[in-house]
Amino acid sequence: MSEAILPQDLIPTDGRFGCGPSKVRPEQIARLSMPGSPMGTSHRQAGVKDLVGSVRERVSQLFSLPDGYEVLLANGGSTSFWDAAVFGLIERRSHHQVFGEFGGKFATASAAAPWLDEPSTAKSEPGTRPALEAVDGVDVVAYPHNETSTGVMHPVERASGDGLTVVDATSAAGGIDFDASAADVYYFAPQKNFGSDGGLWLAAASPAAIERIERVAASGRYIPDSLSLQQVVSNSRKNQTLNTPAVATLLMLDEQLGWMLEQGGLAAMDTRTTASSDVLYAWADATSVATPFVSNPADRSKVVATIDFDESVDAAAIASTLRASGILDIEPYRKLGRNQLRIATFAGIETEDVRTLTRAIDWALSN
Ligand SMILES: *Cc1c(COP(=O)(O)O)cnc(C)c1O
Repeated sequence: MSEAILPQDLIPTDGRFGCGPSKVRPEQIARLSMPGSPMGTSHRQAGVKDLVGSVRERVSQLFSLPDGYEVLLANGGSTSFWDAAVFGLIERRSHHQVFGEFGGKFATASAAAPWLDEPSTAKSEPGTRPALEAVDGVDVVAYPHNETSTGVMHPVERASGDGLTVVDATSAAGGIDFDASAADVYYFAPQKNFGSDGGLWLAAASPAAIERIERVAASGRYIPDSLSLQQVVSNSRKNQTLNTPAVATLLMLDEQLGWMLEQGGLAAMDTRTTASSDVLYAWADATSVATPFVSNPADRSKVVATIDFDESVDAAAIASTLRASGILDIEPYRKLGRNQLRIATFAGIETEDVRTLTRAIDWALSN
């Protein structure tokens, strides 16, 4: 069967709706070759170090970090952060809110570490989230701010008890407003709302988190250098990383941070993602064959909308028809296995493009 071709006026100005790597704004790419760009220069000299300093300063501004919070950064992406936390942040036992793949992966990493006790977990079905309840005898409470595999948000809040609150903000950071004082570690990678590339992780860390990192490092536990959070703290304070960072990733991240601040900061980004995701949820509510996957409206993600289709429709075929016209990466999360489209509405994505996308899906449904 030959693919029908989407009419030109139903093609968004930018067809990238994937959950990471995600849409890069042209200004971010242009930044790489601007006069004075530090591309191709030493990461131990002022050019790259000042860039790292700017990224750290702008993250701090964007999140309105309370006094004493520090911005950390290191190589490896959010997945490496889980291993670093298992070595250098969890003292004995962690608790994990598990409601999808990403929250589950951190729990698995903690469970596999022979020097830690078996973690506690609270699980719920995909498309929902567990309530955050007090757990005794844990020193870390972990959950994703946004579960990218299902499109469910979890409020950034503290459980009663004295564990550090450690939030995976990989797909939420920069797109969803939150109270930074409610988290001890709010960590993320720059390939989602920040429209940069992967391979780096950043975190806003509270004084209590820094104190914990120092205590665990001093405990005599074996910690490899490349996963040492203590090394991350001391290197970040010097605006550097243990080994060579991707300079292009830092430049594109810095550009996006500057744009976000100029547009009005995190509140303005939250307004954008709310508008874009509302377009999709309202469209699904109004379309007989489509339904928002997340049934509780309060849990529906502002940055990753998941839309179920009834069995008369083949969502994979829609994704492939639209892909042929340059509308990319709206397939569902592969392990969720639903008849679904998953559409990112990250901060850099234009609401008008999301509107055009819904019209393109309507067209695919009727062709
Ligand atoms: C994308 C994503 C990750 C994985 O990030 P990497 O940088 O590829 O390791 C982790 N957690 C969440 C919530 C994500 O969306």
